[in-house]
Amino acid sequence: MGSGVVVVALASTIRHDGRGGVADDLGDLDRYRRWLRDPDADELTRLALVGLRRAVRSLFAVLVAPEPPSAPDASRLLPVAEAVGRINAAVLPTRAVLEWGDEPVARVEIAGMDAARVDMAGAGAAGAGTAGMGVVGTSVAGVSVAGEGVAGEGVAGEGVAGEGVGRVGVAGDAAVRGAVVVDGFARAAIEFLGSGERFGLRVCRGPRCVKYYLLAHPRQGWCSPACGNRARVSRHYHRR
Ligand SMILES: [Zn+2]
Repeated sequence: MGSGVVVVALASTIRHDGRGGVADDLGDLDRYRRWLRDPDADELTRLALVGLRRAVRSLFAVLVAPEPPSAPDASRLLPVAEAVGRINAAVLPTRAVLEWGDEPVARVEIAGMDAARVDMAGAGAAGAGTAGMGVVGTSVAGVSVAGEGVAGEGVAGEGVAGEGVGRVGVAGDAAVRGAVVVDGFARAAIEFLGSGERFGLRVCRGPRCVKYYLLAHPRQGWCSPACGNRARVSRHYHRR
């Protein structure tokens, strides 16, 4: 999965609610836990992710110009330098570690977090092709686009028991898991915004739609066929 899909999924947690209003999947802890599919996800992580999303959406607004930005947060956009700084600050300092007990195990250590070691074997199983992104493989490999909603699987992986080695896994500390989730989205944002993939970013002009989306083909005008149909019906109505 491309980093664009991951970072657009984060931006799309602000979405049309289907009744003419705007919904926020990160709006409170219950909704955030449902979206992430982690019943133990913590409030600090939610706030960190909301902050990262604001930075991402602020830069999305710059990228789609001269088209006007998605409406719900158009009046609360961060200056570019602040948004960039926020994204960079969300990336965890990590280093690769080889451990050799009964057999060799590759892990990622998070600096400044004694309890945080990520079993890269588990990460690889969860997200083939993402191992090069460091910890991100464990955190966002499970993010998938399903129907209207976008859900993160959170951090998968069994982890490996070891003395004094906490694990980023289902049984791990919520704050550490949360930091890894935020790190994953931040790394996806950096990869996407720093690559040519960003030229495919659009803001949907469907009636009431507030989505940023990635072009699947060059002449795509809306985020979805449903938005295209609504736009055609609306145009027809206004012509009469
Ligand atoms: Zn749309």
